[in-house]
Amino acid sequence: MTHNFDVVVLGGGIGGYTAAIRAAQLGKSVAIVEQDKLGGTCLHRGCIPSKALLRSAELFAAMKESESYGILAEGVKLDFNKVQTRKTAIVDQLHSGVQYLMKKNKIEVFRGKGCIIGPSIFSPRSGTVSVEQEDGEYLSLVPNALIIATGSRPRSLPGLSIDGEFLLSSDDALTMEALPASMIIIGGGVIGVEWASMLSDFGVQVTVVEYAPRLLPGEDEDVSRELERLLKKRGVTVHTGAKVLPETVRTGAGGVTLSVEKKNGTLELSADKALVCVGRQANVEGIGLENTDVKIENGFIRVNDFMQTAESHIYAVGDCIGGVQLAHAASHEGIMAAEHAAGRNPHGYAAHRVPRCVYSRPEIASVGWTERQAAEQGFELKIAKLPFKPLSKALVYGETDGFIKVIANKRSNDILGVHMIGPHVTDFISEAALAQLLEATPWEVGQTIHPHPTLSELLGEAMMAVDGQSISF
Ligand SMILES: Cc1cc2nc3c(=O)[nH]c(=O)nc-3n(C[C@H](O)[C@H](O)[C@H](O)COP(=O)(O)OP(=O)(O)OC[C@H]3O[C@@H](n4cnc5c(N)ncnc54)[C@H](O)[C@@H]3O)c2cc1C
Repeated sequence: MTHNFDVVVLGGGIGGYTAAIRAAQLGKSVAIVEQDKLGGTCLHRGCIPSKALLRSAELFAAMKESESYGILAEGVKLDFNKVQTRKTAIVDQLHSGVQYLMKKNKIEVFRGKGCIIGPSIFSPRSGTVSVEQEDGEYLSLVPNALIIATGSRPRSLPGLSIDGEFLLSSDDALTMEALPASMIIIGGGVIGVEWASMLSDFGVQVTVVEYAPRLLPGEDEDVSRELERLLKKRGVTVHTGAKVLPETVRTGAGGVTLSVEKKNGTLELSADKALVCVGRQANVEGIGLENTDVKIENGFIRVNDFMQTAESHIYAVGDCIGGVQLAHAASHEGIMAAEHAAGRNPHGYAAHRVPRCVYSRPEIASVGWTERQAAEQGFELKIAKLPFKPLSKALVYGETDGFIKVIANKRSNDILGVHMIGPHVTDFISEAALAQLLEATPWEVGQTIHPHPTLSELLGEAMMAVDGQSISF
């Protein structure tokens, strides 16, 4: 059977379903093809389940320290089954929400694996999507514009195969029925660091192995250093500049053993399980790209500023195009593709201006260039770095670790980067992102009245401190 649509979206993750909604809002007839569950990685295997687990871990850790808040709680215990049940309930509720949005916007959802076909009797252009439905029947969706949003999946190291029992991907870890006593985390990027923080709060003995010289290699060096210090203070073992040797990995009744090569020798590590967090691989195979002129570069679909591939009526968004592999980038790209396909002129974005958040304890949030990146571009810098320690709201919360660092251009007064590690910083990084978007100066952000007592007061002070005008520091 053949159906015609203005827009067909291949992949129902956050990039895909956001594109579908925007296209429908602009009056287009829209179909979305999803082989699994609407919501994709973010909802089922990423942002939401991981943050639900992190919240339980954070609360558990806080309860263990409740005495310092004057609360005497005895016999605090963890019921990991209930932790998982709560996580699943949150995911299910949001999943229903996405399904409702499809109905509300009159988007036709096709369950099944989609594959793009070349020019055919249905259309002189490539881009028709053939859908293999669950009952084995095929149907064809013929679009005026196709938006590819097939996302990504966990990657492993060459020679290291994830077995789901001893060697886990983040997908496996999210569905663990019980916590291991110890875990080696291979990879100290965002996902690895979040798991390290969470598992350590749950009482798991954690060892992080990172190949780069520091954790979170994409973040400002001061932030990496502070994070490593704080994780170590909580009992997490961190090995940076350390290379896991895949050929040494052994699994069995005793758990996992492996060797790690460091500058000064080789280390033997062992744990109940190991979690592999070494990045994400785009889903670009088996979706029929060979039937089109769409180009792949370094494993990702190549697009222009409007998300168009080499075939102008075929767009691609989200993790499958690489760049900023974050949910909010995917949804923004989805909106851009839908708007462009509808003949609008969408608002673009610069990759470095997408806020980046890490939901470890304490949290990390940043936007713009790191100090090193800004210096490498030849900007003359003025920098302020203020600690949370003396801030009233941080003291009230009992969470005083971390700092806010603001990097500005000495000549133009532009805000080049804002880097925060500290309590709940992910909640107010958007203020810094807005300031960059509106090209505000640090002084202008400082003049914005920040309510007292809030954690965001420190951002206002740090902005003023760039020009030596902070009141409290
Ligand atoms: C553990 C973890 C934690 C994360 N935490 C955060 C976070 O806190 N904040 C954040 O911003 N980002 C986070 N991310 C990243 C975020 O989840 C992704 O950037 C985002 O989900 C990408 O969305 P997408 O729509 O491009 O792809 P996906 O969400 O991967 O969706 C792609 C969809 O396409 C479907 N599909 C693929 N091929 C086909 C086909 N041939 N036919 C039909 N359907 C197909 C898939 O089934 C999937 O549902 C996290 C990721 C992980 C793994």
